[in-house]
Amino acid sequence: MHVSRSLGRTLPFIALGSFALLTIAAGWQQHQTLMRGFTAASAARERALEAELSRRLSRDSTGAFFKYLTAEPHPAGTVRNKILADFVAARFRQYGLEDVRMHRYDVLLPWPREVKVEMTAPTHYVATLKEDVFPQDPQTAQDAGPTYLGMSASGDVTRELVYASSGNPSDYDWLESQGISLQGKIAIVRYSVPYSYRGFKALTAQKRGLAALLIYSDPAQDGFAKGDTFPVGPWGPSSHIQRGSITYDFMIAGDPLTPGYASLPGAPRIKADDALSMPKIITVPMSYRDAEPMLRALGGPEAPKEWQGALGFRYHVGGGPATVHVKVDMDSATRPIYVVEGRIRGTEEPNKYVLLGNHRDAWVFGGVDPSSGTATQLELARVLGAMAKEGKRPKRSIVFADWDAEEWHLTGSTEWGENFADDVKANAIAYLNVDESTSGSNFEATAVASLNDVVTQSVRDVKDPARPGSVLDAWGRRNENAHGPLDYPANALGSGSDYTVFLNFLGVPVVEMDFDGPYGVYHSVYDDYYWMTHLGDPGFKYMTAMSEVCGRMAMRLANADVYPYDFALYANRVGRFIDSLAARPSVAGQLDVTAARGATAHWASAAAALDSALATTLAAPNSPARSARLRAANEAMRAVEQHFLNDSGIPGRPWFKHVLYAPKYTYAAMVLPGVEEAVDQGNWSLAREQIAVLTAKLEAVAAATRAAANALGR
Ligand SMILES: [Zn+2]
Repeated sequence: MHVSRSLGRTLPFIALGSFALLTIAAGWQQHQTLMRGFTAASAARERALEAELSRRLSRDSTGAFFKYLTAEPHPAGTVRNKILADFVAARFRQYGLEDVRMHRYDVLLPWPREVKVEMTAPTHYVATLKEDVFPQDPQTAQDAGPTYLGMSASGDVTRELVYASSGNPSDYDWLESQGISLQGKIAIVRYSVPYSYRGFKALTAQKRGLAALLIYSDPAQDGFAKGDTFPVGPWGPSSHIQRGSITYDFMIAGDPLTPGYASLPGAPRIKADDALSMPKIITVPMSYRDAEPMLRALGGPEAPKEWQGALGFRYHVGGGPATVHVKVDMDSATRPIYVVEGRIRGTEEPNKYVLLGNHRDAWVFGGVDPSSGTATQLELARVLGAMAKEGKRPKRSIVFADWDAEEWHLTGSTEWGENFADDVKANAIAYLNVDESTSGSNFEATAVASLNDVVTQSVRDVKDPARPGSVLDAWGRRNENAHGPLDYPANALGSGSDYTVFLNFLGVPVVEMDFDGPYGVYHSVYDDYYWMTHLGDPGFKYMTAMSEVCGRMAMRLANADVYPYDFALYANRVGRFIDSLAARPSVAGQLDVTAARGATAHWASAAAALDSALATTLAAPNSPARSARLRAANEAMRAVEQHFLNDSGIPGRPWFKHVLYAPKYTYAAMVLPGVEEAVDQGNWSLAREQIAVLTAKLEAVAAATRAAANALGR
C-alpha cells in the first residue's frame, strides 16, 4: 500500500515568513549550494563515487529482478513470499552486504475460508469476485487466490442495501437526513479520489451500525472515465478489484495482538477483543461489474450529483428493494513473516546508518506495489555491494531492509522497529522509504523538512531518463508556483507505508518517494509485469533512476562531513504549521499560540547559529580536534528529531508519539495532531494542554539544536 499520491499537498500555501530570511541569510547555505554537509574536497570525492554509482546501475539488471519478483502472486505469509525473502537474502550475501539477517515475526494474518456476495432481491445476482483473463497477458490466467479485504470480520448477513457514496461520515449524515435508516443494513461505497483509506470507510460504517460494507471501484475514479483501460491503457478494466486491508492502524500500527512490542515467536499476545486496530465489520471489495446490477436495483431517492458515478444510469441510494447476502468466513491464524536486512558497513562510523526500506509482500503480483520498489532496492544493493568490495565504502553504514506484511498493518517494519528501537534511536540517521518506486515518470517526495535540501540536491544530480534535464527540472516544471526547489517536497506526512514506525514511534527523519503516473490497477491482478513493461515504465528507465535517487541520497547522508539536516527550513515549516492553526476561525480567542511561536523562533535562531558555526568549522583546516567537534555536533544533530517525541503520545493514540505528525484516520496527513484534534472537537482545555506540550517540545528541540552549535566550540 502506498498513498502519497496527491495527499501530501493538503496544506494551503503560505508565503515565506521571517524564518525564511534567516535561512537565506545563513552563510552556510550559500557556502554549500553544491552539496549540503560537505567541504569542497569531500564533495569532489562524493561526486566521483556517485558518478560511478550512476554508471554501474543497469536497466537490464533491474528488469531481471522485477521479472522474477512479479512471476507469481506473493502475499504475506505465502510460500512464494518466503521464497522471495530467501532470494533477497541470498542476493544481499552474494553482493557482499554484511550482517545479512532474516528476522521472523509471528503476526495475525487471517485468511479467508469463504467469501460470498449475492443479491437476493429483486433479482438474483451472484458476484463473481473474479478478474477477467486477457490473452495478451498470460499472467492474468494465473490463480490470484480468493478476493477479500485483510482483517475483515467474519459473519453471514442478508439485508437491505444502501448506497453511501464514499462512505464518509457526511455521506451517512445525508442519508439519515433523507430518512434512510442505516442500522443493520449493508452499505455499498466507492473507493475515493483523492485517496481515503478503506479502513476509515470500514470504521465509519461500523460506527453507524451497518451490518456489512461493500467497497467497489467506480470507473469515474480509476476506470474508463479516466482513459484507456488495461491492457490498452493504464486504467482499471471492468472486472478489476482493489484488494487491501482495513486494519485500524491509524490507531496503532503493527501486529494488532502485540501493541508497542515485537511479535517475536513466543511473545505474549493480547486478546483480539482488546486490540484497538481490529475491525468488527464484514467488508468485501468488488469490481464495478459486480457492483453495477446491485446499484441499478436500488430504489429510494436519487443520489446527489456528486455521488453519481460513471456507470450509465442514475444512481439511487435505496434502501431497497435491493437485498444482498454477504458471507465472510476468516480463520484467525497467526502466520510467520520475514524481514530481511543487510548492511554496507561504513569505514569510519559503522554503527551509524542510513536505513533504506521497501516492502516485499504484494496483494497479487505486485507490479507497481511493491515489486518496482523491491527491484529498485536490489539493483542499488548490487551496485553498492560491488563498489564496497572494491574498497569504495561509505563512511557510515547503509542498511537495506526488505519488509514483509506491509499490506496488512505496516507489520514487518513496525515489528522490526519495535524490536530494535534502542539501536534505531541511538544510530539511525534517516529512513528512506520506497514502496511503489514507479508507476510513471513524475517524481514525488514527502519528507521531514530537515531533509528537503538533501532530497532536492540529490535529484538535481539525477538525469531524467526520458526528458531533457534532471529529475529536479522535471519536478520543477510541475511545481511552477513554488518559490524554489525547497518547496517541492511536501512536508505533511500521513501514513500508509513503512515510514510510520520510524517517524511516529521512533523519531527518525524520513523521506517517502516515488515516480508517479496514471495508475488504475492498484492492488488488482493487473498490477503486473505486463502493465509495467507496456504501460508504466517500459525499459525500466524510471525504476532504475529511483535506484540512483536513493543511492545518492543514502551516500550523502552516510558520507557528509556534517549531517545535511536543514533545521532552519524545518523551523520555518513548523512556523507555517502554527500559522495555519492560528488561522482557523474557531481558534481566535480560544487558543494562544504566542508561546509556540516564540519557541519556534528560538529554534530558528539556534538553527542559524548552528549553520554559521558549521560553516566556520568546515572552513577551518582539518585536524583531529576539528573532527572530534564535528562528530559531537553530528551526534547532537541526529538526536534533534527525537525531541519531538512525547512519551504519552497524542491523546487517545499513545503509540503515535511525534507531536508534529500523525495520520488522520483516512491516512491523510495531520500536522500538530494533538492540538488539531482537540480543536476539531472544540475541546479547548485539551487544546491548551496540547499546545503547551508542543511548546515544550519545540523548546527542547531548540535546546538540542543549540547544543549542537555549542559542540562546535562557540
Ligand atoms: Zn505498497
